[in-house]
Amino acid sequence: MIATTLCYIKNNKDEYLLLHRVKKVNDINEGKWIGVGGKLEEGETPDQCVVREVYEETGLTLTNYHCHGLVKFISDQYEAEDMYLYSADGYDGSLIEDCNEGELVWVHKDKVLELPTWEGDKYFLKPLLEGQNRIDMLVEYKGDELVRCENLASPVNTIKSNVLTYPHGFSTRTGGVSEGIYKSLNLGMKLGDDWRRVWENYNRFLSSVGIKQRDFVCGNQVHGNSVHIATSKDLRVAYGKGNIYEVDGYVTNEPGVPIVVFTADCVPVLLEDRKHGVIGALHCGWRSTVADIEKEGIDKMVLLGARKENIHIAIGPAIEASCFEVGSEVVEAAEKLIGGAASRFYEKETDKVTGEIIRCKFLLNLKGIIKERFTQLGVKEEFIEIINECTMCNPDKFWSHRYTKGQRGSQASIISIPPLK
Ligand SMILES: [Zn+2]
Repeated sequence: MIATTLCYIKNNKDEYLLLHRVKKVNDINEGKWIGVGGKLEEGETPDQCVVREVYEETGLTLTNYHCHGLVKFISDQYEAEDMYLYSADGYDGSLIEDCNEGELVWVHKDKVLELPTWEGDKYFLKPLLEGQNRIDMLVEYKGDELVRCENLASPVNTIKSNVLTYPHGFSTRTGGVSEGIYKSLNLGMKLGDDWRRVWENYNRFLSSVGIKQRDFVCGNQVHGNSVHIATSKDLRVAYGKGNIYEVDGYVTNEPGVPIVVFTADCVPVLLEDRKHGVIGALHCGWRSTVADIEKEGIDKMVLLGARKENIHIAIGPAIEASCFEVGSEVVEAAEKLIGGAASRFYEKETDKVTGEIIRCKFLLNLKGIIKERFTQLGVKEEFIEIINECTMCNPDKFWSHRYTKGQRGSQASIISIPPLK
């Protein structure tokens, strides 16, 4: 699949910069009026591509631009194409005299739709000219003929907690641009999805949380109990190069360092001490939980200046007891962690037909165990919120590893101390 960008640049006279394609030999766009853009190079993000292409074709350096979304093209003649659609209203420099792709012309907003172009382009150009923020479409051609044009936009459905006050959120499956087993808001980076689509999914998720920056801290989760103190040195964009730690949690007291954990049944936990400016994010599967990652997280937050009695905690969407069948070794490990209190958080599974107890099978309330552990560590019970959503019961809303048997994308949970102005 080809990935491209297309940008419509506006000046302060309400004119858009269009390229009248009249110069290239054998140009599939010959005679058409279109925006500026081109193919993504290897490893290039859509943002990097649009800035480079605009500079190469026009001589202008973009200073303010916006990605509206993704237009997916299918055709019986050409390779499938993902086109990242941009508008821009800030730039430096002056137009080059001689563009080798065609003639560059400023066209008034009211005239843009009258010029000859691809039939399908008008369907995304009209909302773009009207200033619509999100534009997602599927456009299908047979030869030069438009045979299908569908609006693909769906809302991002990020879940917020009532006990947290910093920008934060637990992602769900909806509102993204991924397809197939990753449909649609996949935020997992190593699961085989097209990484540029994941990059766009992050744009949407971060916007829904109110985080403006596009870099954050995340890493490889290993079901252990290590928690890393994150700093700005660990920041990277989705799929960008950077420090990657084999840990299951992060804490930080630095503004502008969003921290992320991934889950798809395991329990995501977000923490904050607003008073002392310290946050945490933990990936609490049962293994990390019984290895006491809760204590590691709290201790590292305290190290950064937090106080246990000020810490607020949100326990996010994850597999719940009715779906979470475990063996006796998990129950025993939970008993080791929180003692006799554990008996409140599991029950013996019964046979659905006969009602008889099934030996050695238990249904485990992992969220309850995590909450109990935090209260044992000195966090106030009333400062802990459990978000009662089961990932396995709602496979259209959440990624569930058990439900999909591993054929899946991933949720991300994020929290950030806003950057200093
Ligand atoms: Zn369930």
